Amino acid sequence: MSRFLPSRAAALTQLAAFLPKAGAHYANERNADRGPMGHDNVSLLSPAVRHRLITEAEIAAAVLDRFAFSTSEKFIQEVCWRTYWKGWLELRPRVWADYQSTLREQIARVSDGAGLDRPFRKRWQAAVDGNTGIACFDAWVEELRTTGYLHNHTRMWFASIWIFTLNLPWALGADFFYRHLLDGDPASNTLSWRWVAGLQTRGKHYLARAENIQKYTGNRYWPKGELNEDAAPLPPDDIPAAGRISELPLPKSGLRTALWLHEDDLCAESWPDLDGLDIVAIGGDVTPDARSWLPVSAAVIDWTDAALTDGLQRAGAHFGRPATRVRPSERHRWLEDHGIQQVVTAYATVGPVADAVKALERELTTRGIALVRVRRDWDTAFWPHASKGFFQLRERIRPVLGELGIP
Ligand SMILES: Cc1cc2nc3c(=O)[nH]c(=O)nc-3n(C[C@H](O)[C@H](O)[C@H](O)COP(=O)(O)OP(=O)(O)OC[C@H]3O[C@@H](n4cnc5c(N)ncnc54)[C@H](O)[C@@H]3O)c2cc1C
Repeated sequence: MSRFLPSRAAALTQLAAFLPKAGAHYANERNADRGPMGHDNVSLLSPAVRHRLITEAEIAAAVLDRFAFSTSEKFIQEVCWRTYWKGWLELRPRVWADYQSTLREQIARVSDGAGLDRPFRKRWQAAVDGNTGIACFDAWVEELRTTGYLHNHTRMWFASIWIFTLNLPWALGADFFYRHLLDGDPASNTLSWRWVAGLQTRGKHYLARAENIQKYTGNRYWPKGELNEDAAPLPPDDIPAAGRISELPLPKSGLRTALWLHEDDLCAESWPDLDGLDIVAIGGDVTPDARSWLPVSAAVIDWTDAALTDGLQRAGAHFGRPATRVRPSERHRWLEDHGIQQVVTAYATVGPVADAVKALERELTTRGIALVRVRRDWDTAFWPHASKGFFQLRERIRPVLGELGIP
């Protein structure tokens, strides 16, 4: 059975089970990859937190309820890496747009009929099929395809081998991850791949080394002589200056309001700014197949669908209103049936979910219905500190947690 169940109840159980290890144990042990069935030194919470079946604030509060900040700092910092990457990309959406256009070109090179570049296509195919002959890499492909998860250290080794040993474009590697990871996230994924490549921190790349893999896989793998351990970083690209985090208008009271769930935040019970609204219905939809022009794994699609069902059930029970999945072709009817005048949704970060929300907004506008986005205090408080390197945000973790009322 999968260890990643698509429900809030399962995420809370997982957090409770991991909590005793979130202090010194995590700080000391987190870098080891003990194999597909052995990931008990890390929380395995990423699919849930990426879809906000559970929130970063809840995780931080639970951890700090149990441990002093100094003991759990490493774990809290890791949770904040997600926040940092999201904030960084929010401040520079063009990096996502540039990645998408590069990816489109690279996908054309490996697509059926791309006869011109057959050797390249074969190398890419061998990598995504786990047929490279590098035992650890091929096993990680199998683990990713079957479980939808890889340990963080393994993701780093994997990306490094993809880019520097197999000489494949980082964009296609990021796409392969994004199509298979249950926690697939535009910011954490794209920017981590860029970081490994040396594009994110100029001139600093991550080189996977055989000794390091041997040590942290407990001798399961030792790809001695198989890896390019001397590669130079990829040539730098143009990183735009950081923009600003937009201010959001508040939802209006006195209007028949619907809540709209999507896969960036499936916990409507704790969305901000809903007090006093006349909530008459809850709807939602997910679009995991929009992650790529290539096929997205069935596991990702099924998991995301089930997570939406869980989110709708909880929201329906919490607000005491009908809650249904609403496909694009059913939207008109749903809006009419409930006499909806305003739709409130969680702020979606740069990527395909934000694009789907924009499409919904355009449709609502033609019907004279406003779409209002609400952003969690966690994001509003942290994102402005993501304009530079992670160090800048890391220094703000304690004060910001204080501002958020997390002691
Ligand atoms: C090349 C590459 C691609 C990645 N792609 C994704 C992705 O698509 N989606 C995704 O959620 N994470 C991604 N990560 C980050 C990280 O690997 C996963 O979040 C982490 O492995 C999840 O496992 P866990 O929940 O057991 O983590 P834990 O070690 O238990 O960490 C706790 C939480 O902190 C956060 N976190 C931990 N490490 C990181 C990190 N390096 N960056 C961002 N957040 C972190 C996650 O929310 C995680 O659930 C990627 C990392 C690399 C190197």
